[in-house]
Amino acid sequence: QSLKKYFPIKKGVFSRKVGDIKAVDDISFYINRGEIFGLVGESGCGKSTTGRTILNLLEPTGGSVTFDGRRIYDVEENYRLSTEEMALMRRDMQMIFQDPYASLDPRMSVGAIVTEGMLKHKIYDKKEAMEKAKELLELCGLPASSIKKYPHEFSGGQRQRIGIARSLALNPKFIIGDEPIAALDVSIQAQVLTLMQDLIEQFDLTCLFISHDLCVVRYFCDRIGVMYLGSFVEVGTSDHLFENPMHPYTQALLSAIPKSMPIEEKQRIILQGDVPSPANPPKGCKFHTRCPYVKDICKEQVPETKELETDHFVSCHLY
Ligand code: SF4
Ligand code: MG
Repeated sequence: QSLKKYFPIKKGVFSRKVGDIKAVDDISFYINRGEIFGLVGESGCGKSTTGRTILNLLEPTGGSVTFDGRRIYDVEENYRLSTEEMALMRRDMQMIFQDPYASLDPRMSVGAIVTEGMLKHKIYDKKEAMEKAKELLELCGLPASSIKKYPHEFSGGQRQRIGIARSLALNPKFIIGDEPIAALDVSIQAQVLTLMQDLIEQFDLTCLFISHDLCVVRYFCDRIGVMYLGSFVEVGTSDHLFENPMHPYTQALLSAIPKSMPIEEKQRIILQGDVPSPANPPKGCKFHTRCPYVKDICKEQVPETKELETDHFVSCHLY
């Protein structure tokens, strides 16, 4: 609810604060149990920061997060779980990172990587944990013997399978995938995505899936939120969003997909200019500097978010 994450901009020898980069600027959304929610937008729009702030891996600037009926933090009320409670909660909330090369410690064996969390939380003893790791690796399509090997002995796709096995080790309820297939070869992406889909079903997971790729999100997600400069412009079910994109930014993103069904006949919408800096976002509707439908009011007033169809939210003065 009203989640914000600002990064201070500092200048000079005394590190005087001169402004903020508003990476996540007041976003509210929910993910139903068992749902896969897609967070899409161009790079730098605040997707990863949103994921990390939800998990409290980044200190939130404002807003609150509730998980499974429990508040994790509420900045305005100065409330947060204690360190111990947070550590427990973390077991239920795991993250799969974008870069399988960077997210696995090259000095640790695969067995050590997958069992690390189980041992830290004292869920199993060492021997049991290794057995569980073998099981998880096999579920993720790798031989049990992988536990003795090191990350460099695996391909990118295999490393991401290791990352997925690790994320499942604590039996989580909720997973955030931060562009988990973006760094992989296109030929491997579908395999890893299918694996994730199977595991989400099998483990009864709820998922926040971060991606810049609308095609992937459409195929994978139940509902989608489109982000621009730290804010949501449109949130809806995958079907609604693809059949009837309402926000000009969503329309432009969709029209850029080759053979995108709904806009096939229409012309590709080419957006003018670059994404403005989140340190100095445009007044009013943040998209107004690039919007083909911009009106005077857009330059002054932030558009309200309206529910135009059931479960389909749009922030735009056209509606
Ligand atoms: Fe375009 Fe105005 Fe809608 Fe923003 S509010 S997307 S500028 S029409
Ligand atoms: Mg990112």
